[in-house]
Amino acid sequence: MKEVRLRFAPSPTGYLHIGGLRTALYNYLFAKHNNGKFILRIEDTDRTRYVEGALENLIESLRWAGIEYDEGVFVENDKIVQKGEYGPYIQSERLNIYQKYVDELIEKGYAYYCFCSKERLDKVREEQKIKGLIPKYDGLCRSLSLEEAREKIANGEEYVVRLKLPPNRDIKFEDLVRGNITINTEDIDDQVLLKSDGYPTYHMAVVVDDHLMGITHIVRGEEWLPSTPKHVYLYEVFGWEKPVYVHLPTVLNKERKKLSKRHGDVAVEDFREKGYLPEGLINYLALVGWSPEDNEEILTMEELIEKFSFERVSKTGGIFDKDKLDWVNGHHIRSYDLDKLTELAIPHLKEANLIDDKFVEERYNWIKTLVETVKESLSNVSEIVDKVDIFFNNQVEPEDEEALSILKQDHVPNLLNAFKQELENIGEVDEEFAKTIMKKIQKGTGIKGKKLFMPTRVALTGNIHGPELVSIIYLLGKQNILNRIKYVEERYL
Ligand code: GLU
Repeated sequence: MKEVRLRFAPSPTGYLHIGGLRTALYNYLFAKHNNGKFILRIEDTDRTRYVEGALENLIESLRWAGIEYDEGVFVENDKIVQKGEYGPYIQSERLNIYQKYVDELIEKGYAYYCFCSKERLDKVREEQKIKGLIPKYDGLCRSLSLEEAREKIANGEEYVVRLKLPPNRDIKFEDLVRGNITINTEDIDDQVLLKSDGYPTYHMAVVVDDHLMGITHIVRGEEWLPSTPKHVYLYEVFGWEKPVYVHLPTVLNKERKKLSKRHGDVAVEDFREKGYLPEGLINYLALVGWSPEDNEEILTMEELIEKFSFERVSKTGGIFDKDKLDWVNGHHIRSYDLDKLTELAIPHLKEANLIDDKFVEERYNWIKTLVETVKESLSNVSEIVDKVDIFFNNQVEPEDEEALSILKQDHVPNLLNAFKQELENIGEVDEEFAKTIMKKIQKGTGIKGKKLFMPTRVALTGNIHGPELVSIIYLLGKQNILNRIKYVEERYL
């Protein structure tokens, strides 16, 4: 059987949109599910949209997300390198290849030179609009002979090359998600294939490259669906076997609009900065427009590869639901390797000035316990800053009236005294002490249950709810607990 080959072919126009990441992911999953190859090709023939550094950013986002490709464009030692037998994989380095195929189309009469000025094209479009027609090129330059056209070129006239579509012909292709699609050439424009700057348009380059690179399946966003008949026609006139098409539903927000920068985070790097795990974001994105047969929702990359198929991709737009992302990501945080999670948490804690390098060096295990203690409540790693606040601030304020009234109970001074006494007997709080202290106080004072635990928690953290008391006592340590008790005694008892 023919080797399955898929590609992700972004234009480096800034950052990687999460919709783009999902497209890359589905390509990757299908390729890996079929033991095929996955390729990263860079489509940079629109020079007006070029953004410095965008390529590196894009490659870094894919690397972070865990989407590995076999061929294409990589960054190694801060340098852009290309690997694979079908290179170059950057379209701006393939101009002579496109030129050759454009020439072939012209020779065979499937394309023609067009000299129409922008002003003329605008005018034609305006007139068509007024008449209620779909604006498209009116075909004026179709009638020029090749000799006439070549003479104009020799005279230095600017030109583009256009596809010469046959009149009134149905172009048919199959899409794995949408089924059979037929579009009549009357509804399609004579697409520009080669621009006046000598660069091909996307439409020309994509067909030539997908063919030469042996791409078997084209998986891309549905915004490209109207372009596909032009591509299919090009495959036909070149005499090339056309690939299988899959057009993915757009990723929408809850208002069913396209996700855009104006409405919040859309760049992969935004999610990374917020402390989403690549495993969580990938897992969630896979579910935006697809679901496995068993409807399982928490999945690793391996499981996604095993379960993925296009039959279960929906035809309608996938909704990006931040709450669901948080839920999925929270699952991954809870089962994450604690050392890795600690490494991810440290920069957030540093940025909030809760710890510094020296602290990390001296008290790494303490930080690890801290992370373990609060990880249950996190939906992304950056939230740790709010959750650990209680461990860094000895000025404990009861969070509300209820918390205050818990402290104001008659038995509380007695309880806190007992706590202080137990602390005075030891050098530092260890795990054993943290585990047994409450029992000891209960024995000594007779205070138990809610009356024992609630005031202790409020005295140590100000809050009525929170992490395990044992962890709180262990993490705070002797001096902090003494300071807190003193602070509370002076102000609230
Ligand atoms: N360069 C196109 C993009 O930016 C790729 C479309 C395709 O996959 O054919 O989305």
